[in-house]
Amino acid sequence: MNQLIRCIPCDEIFMQTPFDQWPEDEETSEECRTIEMDDLQAFLKHHKNHQTESLHILEDSFISEKPYSEPTKISYFKATNGKERFVIKKFRKRIDEPLTYQLIHGDYSLKLLRLEIPSKEIIQQMAIELKDSPLPRPKVEAFLKILKLVLKTVDLESLERIPEDSPHPLEIYYKMDEVSLAYLLRNCRNIFEGEEYKAIESFIQRHQEDGVLLLKATYEIQINEVAKSKKRMASIAQNLEAKRYVEKK
Ligand SMILES: [Zn+2]
Repeated sequence: MNQLIRCIPCDEIFMQTPFDQWPEDEETSEECRTIEMDDLQAFLKHHKNHQTESLHILEDSFISEKPYSEPTKISYFKATNGKERFVIKKFRKRIDEPLTYQLIHGDYSLKLLRLEIPSKEIIQQMAIELKDSPLPRPKVEAFLKILKLVLKTVDLESLERIPEDSPHPLEIYYKMDEVSLAYLLRNCRNIFEGEEYKAIESFIQRHQEDGVLLLKATYEIQINEVAKSKKRMASIAQNLEAKRYVEKK
């Protein structure tokens, strides 16, 4: 278990990572353990006589702006002391620097930036698979248009996520649901006939799960800081007060 300690008056935190997350190598792990214990001692010494509390980390709340493999990425996770919510910002400016943890009062949410269909991949895949009897380009365009209509009506919350398909944490792929697939097939009947319809129908069936016909959503991390807005309210109140004072004069 990760242990997160907050100094309440300073609003500083210390993150104690579990020892078993260190490399297997005995020597390295001993070394890391010593450094870590020293860091904890330093933190406790620095905040001597300050009230501290331990924060509970919310499971599955880790999110990052860059791919997980990126060493200098900024990540966030949620924590709570049972009464207040916090977002912990975890980052390192340079690859050889230790991680920094910053406490933010508030929460974060994911805002949907855009929802797309992989048009390029679909066109490429069709060209490969149907190269003996290619579908006419205007019909392919009409097919892509229907797919874009699906994006407008689909309810993301109810769709199945395909997590392993994205190397990027803020790009999430969703599988099309039965209703959308039925809508797609129904509309294909208006565009394609006979052999062409059979070709598109089997194309859809082949690719509804392999990344060609998935819906791609791109999100953005929005930090909703409580302290900041409180501060802003205080400064607005102060400005009003000052204004009143001037007006009175
Ligand atoms: Zn302190």
